[in-house]
Amino acid sequence: NTPEPVAFIGLGPMGRAMVGALLSRGHRVTVWNRTPSRADALVGRGAVRAASPAEAVTSAELVILSLTDYDAMYSVLDTVGDALAGRTVVNLSSDSPARTREAARWLADRGADLLVGGVMVPAPMVGTEAARVHYSGPRRLLDAHHDTLAVIGRPDYRGEDHGVAQLWYQAELDVFLTMLNGFAHAAALLDSAGVEATELAPYAAETLALAGAFLDPAARAIVSGVHTDDGANVTMMGASADHVLAASRDAGIDTGLPGAVKAHYDWARAAGYGDLSWTSLYTVIRRPPE
Ligand code: NDP
Repeated sequence: NTPEPVAFIGLGPMGRAMVGALLSRGHRVTVWNRTPSRADALVGRGAVRAASPAEAVTSAELVILSLTDYDAMYSVLDTVGDALAGRTVVNLSSDSPARTREAARWLADRGADLLVGGVMVPAPMVGTEAARVHYSGPRRLLDAHHDTLAVIGRPDYRGEDHGVAQLWYQAELDVFLTMLNGFAHAAALLDSAGVEATELAPYAAETLALAGAFLDPAARAIVSGVHTDDGANVTMMGASADHVLAASRDAGIDTGLPGAVKAHYDWARAAGYGDLSWTSLYTVIRRPPE
């Protein structure tokens, strides 16, 4: 099988890594970027430089975008006109689910199909075994271009609704960002006693591994709605949340993050969930009190 040609627009760190991976697998890749110099090294490796977005788009049926957001897609593709008709646009840029659904309609009005992607790894990991990408939109589009897209990362199809790939992307970032902020916050807390973050790191990694082991049973409780006390009930965990907030206040560091955690426990306590598992927080998060 000859690798299919690809038109690739957007050569930030992610786009450059993706084009590099496609070139190394023998794809003919026609590239366009607003700042042309960002294509230089890739052209040196065999990519074809397009003089305009329209020239890139007409070079292949498969058009991959890696731009800052969906607004950038409109800026770029607005200039392309009729050439979009019949193309498959795979947009690997981040944005809200609503904006990706809107983009599907905008492209459909121009005769093009949209497959939305949410790339779950940073640029240095693109094209490696660890790379994975959530996709949503018409399944036939992923089926038709599976082998090409697999070069970027393992495709993980999440459904026909265009919005759902970015929703997954954001759900995973929700976990990731909150966890990293928690680490930065904990480092600030310990710094108030002169302890360096490097000392905290291995302990925090152990805590995170422990938290990982909580997830499967927690997910089962959330899905079943049965939040039986499993040794980590709302009263006990909520008292810990109170103490983290008090310690943060005493240390003179930001209290927003522990305050938000405590607020969830306050809601659960007010709802009478004290004797239930901490997983009952899900109920108040899903439907916060007015
Ligand atoms: P950058 O923001 O660095 O690059 C984005 C590209 O978008 C550049 O090529 C830039 O062109 C182009 N661009 C932005 N606005 C416009 C516009 N109005 N018109 C034309 N071109 C425009 O992003 P990354 O490469 O880091 O990321 C790309 C996407 O991937 C983002 O949506 C990001 O959220 C997502 N992502 C990034 C990860 C990462 O670790 N970096 C990880 C997972 C997902 P120019 O070169 O001219 O500025």
